[in-house]
Amino acid sequence: MTEDSPYEIHDPRFRRLIHPSARLERIATGFRWAEGPVWFPAMGCLLFSDIPENRMMRWTEDGQLGLFRAPADFANGNTRDRQGRLVTCHHGTRSVVRTEHDGTRTILADRFAGQRLNSPNDVVVRSDGSIWFTDPTYGIMSDYEGHAAPREQAANRVYRIDPASGEVAAVSEDFVQPNGLAFSPAEDILYVAESGSSHDPAVPAVIRAYPVAGDRLGPGRDFATIDSGLPDGFRLDRSGNLWSSAADGVHVFSPEGVLLGKIRTPETVANLTFGGRRGHRLFIAATTSVYAVYVEAAGAV
Ligand code: MG
Repeated sequence: MTEDSPYEIHDPRFRRLIHPSARLERIATGFRWAEGPVWFPAMGCLLFSDIPENRMMRWTEDGQLGLFRAPADFANGNTRDRQGRLVTCHHGTRSVVRTEHDGTRTILADRFAGQRLNSPNDVVVRSDGSIWFTDPTYGIMSDYEGHAAPREQAANRVYRIDPASGEVAAVSEDFVQPNGLAFSPAEDILYVAESGSSHDPAVPAVIRAYPVAGDRLGPGRDFATIDSGLPDGFRLDRSGNLWSSAADGVHVFSPEGVLLGKIRTPETVANLTFGGRRGHRLFIAATTSVYAVYVEAAGAV
């Protein structure tokens, strides 16, 4: 990294994933905790959450920034399903909600085993229509990112919503605070971030990898450890490299879990996504701002 370059090269393979001359741009600012960026190609726009401000924003490629939804039930993670619909995790209503093409909203999950969820954090949709999400307690710990409330679940789990029945099933209880999650390009591995070190430094800042076996997960293994802060949200590129949030920027890992390099940012990163006209622009939600940088890689989905 030099004064004007945001790149830290840890492995020569990283050079093929970036454009060394491309610079980090701050495309929007003024947020309290930017999270959950998702790109909608048909509309050429980025949606993202500003959790403590209880709003969702929309940024378009001509540089326009506007409100998408406010109040937003303390929206956190967002994704797009294969039909192009927005799927959002809400702390406020402790639910996972799909916005239909006509603008109406469908609650996909707000309970497990008869009890309310904690506060769904991040969500991903598999090509078979199943919806996988994490349920840590950040949104019920205080009134800052939701509504303070007692927990009803005995564990902070990862869940799967069945596409046919809509049933919510627990797929992992391995985490203190499960957070970001994403599939490998072949969807045979589910990666899940452990962010429990936010409140307990003894918890390792790891991303775990699980083989996907139908509607279940096989035994997990530690895939990578974040050496600056903790992993929150992340995405995979088409070659299976994992691009993770961290305190000092975006960390990029090979499919084998080798740290290839970092894109340093001035603010702590919460989440990121690939987008732009040709899918090669990385959008980074980092505390008070959203940054963008053109890269050679493109998103897996
Ligand atoms: Mg998160």
